[in-house]
Amino acid sequence: MQRYDYDLFTIGAGSGGVRASRLAGASGARVAVAEERHLGGTCVNVGCVPKKLFVYAAHFREDIADAAGYGWKVEPPTFDWATLVRQKDKEIERLNRVYDRILSNAGVEIIDGRATLVDPHTVEVDGQRYTAEKILIATGGTPETPPIIGAEEHSFTSNGAFYLKELPKRLVVVGGGYIAIEFAGIFANLGVDVTLLYRGHLFLRGFDDDLRSFLADEMCEKGIDVRMNAPVTALERDGAEIVVRLDRDRELRTDAVMMATGRRPATAKMGLEKLGVAMTGRGALVVDDHFRTSVPSIFAIGDAIDRVALTPVAILQGAAFHATQFAGKPTTVSYDNIPTAVFSQPPLASVGMTEHAAHNKYGEVDVYTSTFRPMKHTLSGRKERTYMKLIAHPQTDRVLGIHMVGADAPEIIQSLAVAIQCKATKAQFDATMALHPSAAEEFVTMRQKRSSVEADRPG
Ligand code: NDP
Repeated sequence: MQRYDYDLFTIGAGSGGVRASRLAGASGARVAVAEERHLGGTCVNVGCVPKKLFVYAAHFREDIADAAGYGWKVEPPTFDWATLVRQKDKEIERLNRVYDRILSNAGVEIIDGRATLVDPHTVEVDGQRYTAEKILIATGGTPETPPIIGAEEHSFTSNGAFYLKELPKRLVVVGGGYIAIEFAGIFANLGVDVTLLYRGHLFLRGFDDDLRSFLADEMCEKGIDVRMNAPVTALERDGAEIVVRLDRDRELRTDAVMMATGRRPATAKMGLEKLGVAMTGRGALVVDDHFRTSVPSIFAIGDAIDRVALTPVAILQGAAFHATQFAGKPTTVSYDNIPTAVFSQPPLASVGMTEHAAHNKYGEVDVYTSTFRPMKHTLSGRKERTYMKLIAHPQTDRVLGIHMVGADAPEIIQSLAVAIQCKATKAQFDATMALHPSAAEEFVTMRQKRSSVEADRPG
């Protein structure tokens, strides 16, 4: 007789939960995964995947306009939002089925419904109890609407953005993180009159300062009304309009408001507090380097814990959890040099240290930058520019950070992340043959250096 129904019961079939469950199932463990919504979690259903499809959709506006400079005669384009949403839904349903197949092929039992914890080894879904030797919480995160008067009633979050019935004429996006910047760009290029309100002095806190201000300029150039130092105090409905109240008695009127002010771990009302599972004030589960919570049989990964809320990180955590608990190979995850991109228009991507972080750690470091008009736009006439920055240690010559705003930045930075991971030096970048004509070749032909400067203000 087995002591428990399962060796592993995973709650949440998102990126991390699916990876851990299917690896455990494939290696012979008896595994079940409970999911209350759709397989694939945030990334597949209301995150990375539909967002990237929307980014492609939005970019066609520019592609079509740019073609004219190359001799194409194009009828004035029209755009149908309902078609995009329908097409996107079709692709997501396909991916839901792929995830179903992946789990089933690994022998993982899929249980539909919301799971709650009964005791350290028991989970309940729709009144049915299941026992497991190990329980993995992989419930992800959820958009957080701030306590601004009227925000709950008069705004939508990224979850709603993917299912809007129709596009508003005017939209206010509140926030200055990944989601706010990405959706401001998407909606603007789909023809919506977008205003972005950020409460601080410069959005994308944590990214390299030069990148942040360069992207802000590019977004303004594309017609987005980007307003910094614009904290929202209240939202009110006035007939068909929404009044957005700002500090200092400022206000603006719009048709719709999107709140993109952060996400919080989805760990509430699961019975975790009752079992004494330690959490941070934000509801993130506290885990050790092997993803074990304060209750030894309960583990957690992904956005439910307080590490880095990115899909590839959750996937690696899921794999590390499996290796440690089911393959006898204790494995941790390194959070150094994580490449990351904001799929803005144009996109921004980074790997390694910002100029100020490097300066604070090492003192003056070498900084190489390049700003140019992409070759494509010599004929298209578009004003878009590209910005690149490389930071190197003056004594060891090691490349510490690489940053870019411009077409294909995520693709270029992903490749260069390998060089950073391999501790490449600036001399090795210089010794690498350029691939001409490309934008990426700039990173191996940068010769003009300056010294880093200290940040003039925090954030
Ligand atoms: P972020 O945490 O990145 O940004 C939140 C933004 O909202 C910040 O600019 C913050 O300002 C602002 N904010 C927070 N609270 C308030 C408030 N009460 N009033 C006004 N503004 C407020 O959150 P996102 O929602 O953009 O994204 C969540 C996470 O999802 C990201 O951190 C990322 O890990 C992940 N993600 C990754 C993507 C990618 O890889 N491309 C895409 C989308 C999401 P301040 O700076 O002042 O704190």
